[in-house]
Amino acid sequence: MPSIDRRQSVTVNIGGVLVGSSAPVVVQSMTNTDTADIESTVQQVAALARAGSEMVRITVNNDEAAKAVPYIVEGLAKKGWNTPIIGDFHYNGHQLLTKYPECAQALSKYRINPGNVSIGRKDDDNFRTMVECAVKNQKPVRIGVNWGSLDQALLTKMMDENSKLAQPLETRDVMLETMVRSALDNAAAAESYGLRRDQIILSAKVSGVRDLIDVYKELAGRCDHALHLGLTEAGMGMKGIVASTAGLAPLLLSGIGDTIRVSLTPTPDGDRSEEVRCGQQILQALGIRSFTPQVTSCPGCGRTTSTYFQMLAEQVTNYITESMPEWKLNYPGVEEMKLAVMGCIVNGPGESKHANIGISLPGTFEDPVAPVYIDGKLAKTLRGDDIVGEFQVILDDYVKSHYGANGSATKAKVEEFVVL
Ligand code: SF4
Repeated sequence: MPSIDRRQSVTVNIGGVLVGSSAPVVVQSMTNTDTADIESTVQQVAALARAGSEMVRITVNNDEAAKAVPYIVEGLAKKGWNTPIIGDFHYNGHQLLTKYPECAQALSKYRINPGNVSIGRKDDDNFRTMVECAVKNQKPVRIGVNWGSLDQALLTKMMDENSKLAQPLETRDVMLETMVRSALDNAAAAESYGLRRDQIILSAKVSGVRDLIDVYKELAGRCDHALHLGLTEAGMGMKGIVASTAGLAPLLLSGIGDTIRVSLTPTPDGDRSEEVRCGQQILQALGIRSFTPQVTSCPGCGRTTSTYFQMLAEQVTNYITESMPEWKLNYPGVEEMKLAVMGCIVNGPGESKHANIGISLPGTFEDPVAPVYIDGKLAKTLRGDDIVGEFQVILDDYVKSHYGANGSATKAKVEEFVVL
């Protein structure tokens, strides 16, 4: 896979996780629990971390939430999780961080929204208070601009200036430029109030894919701050996944983006960790990072009259998801493994040979046998009623023999895994 030329950015240390061009692109997520509900928040952060979220943001919106923060961090530590916790502040962050110093100390980073921290004020004292709190506690910040809460005073000023131009820009372009200016001006102000460049991350989130690509390209070209990428309010299910991928992929392939968050709306009883797996899959599909073995499976067609291979593909995928927490610890490098589950002989053997382990199930009118290829060579032919079970045994054996202590995982792979 050709390497991607990362945009050079200043690397920021967030509670031990590095974000910037000298580090891999980091996947992060955000809880949707009431932060004041310590137990629920600890449970959800732990679930997100178990799914692979390398940092987790929590809402800090009132006194109860601010008071809960140190207990959440402590509760996670007791469970063995030291995932950095980021406080998401809007409107009253300056008050909460000042009033609750234990909260300010326990958090690993503060998210500041420059569009709503100083509403109704002519000065930026509230923003300055938050930055000074970050300086005092030596915490990094994200200056997170969002078009849904864009600094209205700045937007009005820029609209007015634009209207006086001989050739005014489109409203959309003025809005995107306002977002960039808001991020850059506030980053400069934060530096003037004492934060170092390696303590500042920027974001400029919009909900339109093409707007996202344009605003981040502009922002990336005008600074060397580490960038947090994300399509805001991406939506539910397939729409959210496709839109996030469509927005993030071109930027990541251009080397833009140091940490990502996928903002999916979960179904009422849905699994919040979906957004973590989605972020990981985006990075893995682009060949940027590996998180879990990948299963290549064909869509099936008229040559497969049964759903058997679909079941096998699903069961193998689920088995990998269930096994990964343990595999990750015991079999470094396993996340690079590639599997193929194919529906017939047309592309089955060919695709299987490109995978570490591949199985080609019998299509209509083919012999009821399933050849299994290991590292490109025909290794076994399965038949009968327990092809799924036998394939799982082959998979387990392969993982143990190739990625275990005596396997062939290279030292470099092991070291990379440990660093990640
Ligand atoms: S591999 Fe066979 S079953 Fe799968 S899509 Fe191709 S022709 Fe159809």
